[in-house]
Amino acid sequence: MDCVFCKIVKKEIPTEFLHEDELVVAFRDINPIAPAHVLVIPKKHIGSVADVSESDEKLMGRMILSAKRIAEDLKISGNGYKLLFRVGRHGGQEVGHLHLHLIGGAKLSENIRPVT
Ligand code: 5GP
Ligand code: ZN
Repeated sequence: MDCVFCKIVKKEIPTEFLHEDELVVAFRDINPIAPAHVLVIPKKHIGSVADVSESDEKLMGRMILSAKRIAEDLKISGNGYKLLFRVGRHGGQEVGHLHLHLIGGAKLSENIRPVT
């Protein structure tokens, strides 16, 4: 499958991992929108939250806990941060491999209203 994040998991696109375990990897977003912008992704290909099933409960928990720990490692946890899943077209998802955005290091705007 021609998926950019699968290629990152398989190390076909060289990318420094901030975290790796048997279920997930995390790396910095190539086009950061804040001082800290990290993506946490499952090693197995899942399209989006819309494709997640009951059997992925442990994986979804691991993604969130990994993001929490990375925020602590990056020392952005005290001031808070944003965790974001975009889902599909209306959600603005561009890469079709599930990913959790960890965004922080600065106060973030609340730009989530519908396009007018
Ligand atoms: P989405 O809009 O799908 O929620 O977010 C996809 C994110 O992946 C974007 O923020 C984009 O900058 C990031 N991204 C896309 N391709 C690459 C890549 O090859 N490497 C890294 N590190 N990030 C990527
Ligand atoms: Zn993939």
